[in-house]
Amino acid sequence: MSKNVLILADVRDKKLRNVALECLAVARMIADGGKVTATVFGSSAKDLVEQLAHHGADHVITVSNPELDQYTSDAYFQAFKQVIEKVQPDAIFTGHTAVGRDVSPRIAARLGLGLISDCTSVEVQDGKIIFTRPIYAGKAFVKKAVKEGLIFATIRPNNIEALATDTSRTATVEDLVVSFDKDLLRTIVKEVVRKTADGVDLSEARVVVSGGRGVKSEDGFKPLQELADLLGGAVGASRGACDAGYCDYGLQIGQTGKVVTPDLYIACGISGAIQHLAGMSNSKVIVAINKDPEANIFQVADYGIVGDLFEVVPLLTEELKKVLG
Ligand code: FAD
Repeated sequence: MSKNVLILADVRDKKLRNVALECLAVARMIADGGKVTATVFGSSAKDLVEQLAHHGADHVITVSNPELDQYTSDAYFQAFKQVIEKVQPDAIFTGHTAVGRDVSPRIAARLGLGLISDCTSVEVQDGKIIFTRPIYAGKAFVKKAVKEGLIFATIRPNNIEALATDTSRTATVEDLVVSFDKDLLRTIVKEVVRKTADGVDLSEARVVVSGGRGVKSEDGFKPLQELADLLGGAVGASRGACDAGYCDYGLQIGQTGKVVTPDLYIACGISGAIQHLAGMSNSKVIVAINKDPEANIFQVADYGIVGDLFEVVPLLTEELKKVLG
């Protein structure tokens, strides 16, 4: 049965995040001939309409209120709720990003909806929409279906293929000005200070080179950064490395850090504690470099290199430079 589907498009630095396009792919499949609406917030919203249309949106609701230029829970909550009330969708999708993880449960609670969070796949089986999500910190996966009522889910980045760009697609556009209850806007963002330099977004990176306590110092991350730069990837870390002060907690991958699903994950000097595996074990190819042949990380690795990371990583970089030119 065709459905009216709404997605909230995640924006970072005035650009659409890949997960917005991945949500559109899910929306198109679920809509089954119905209408797919994308809503996008902030002053850059109108510039993103074409890209949303090219990836599956039939209708785009831009909300350009200046209060939405930086994410705050209160402003996004009020704006998203008004969009939902206007669209009256049968299904809603957001990315399982910092934004989606914060705003979606609030919306679900306020509107009395169920929420399936952190979906790694969505498929239609015998007319039923089946959502797969990890449980027990990624040790197992559960399949869920919504029996009745509105479908609401967050989609884990990098798990679902976006639709190929179709430049012949167009979308109708609606500019919505939301009215805020100012008393309920309890946070004002005065300035955003980036901890890390601009680079590839860790949670959407296709290649992640991660360091653990084995890197031994802040400087120990330099060869990892060089390898990541060469492969167009991002650097991540274990909590061991963050706790030791070798890097910022923004790089932490795992149960209490970021969840990543790159095409290639290179773990350097990481033992492979279950809490770390929870954040990376779904990566498509895992390479582990560790001097301890018994390290747990080798249990999940597709390729294991037993050796000193300070010898192996520069050698790998040199060899890859020859191949990649
Ligand atoms: P270690 O376990 O100390 O491993 C270091 C590894 O480096 C060793 O295997 C060693 O053989 C290897 N090594 C040393 N020198 C070299 C060298 N020169 N070359 C090659 N290899 C070398 N951890 C996370 O990562 N993410 C989380 O989100 C997270 N959440 C947690 C939540 C809770 C509630 C708890 C209790 C723990 C959590 N942890 C998390 C911590 C986790 O349990 C581990 O302590 C942590 O992952 C260990 O980090 P590590 O592998 O870098 O360090």
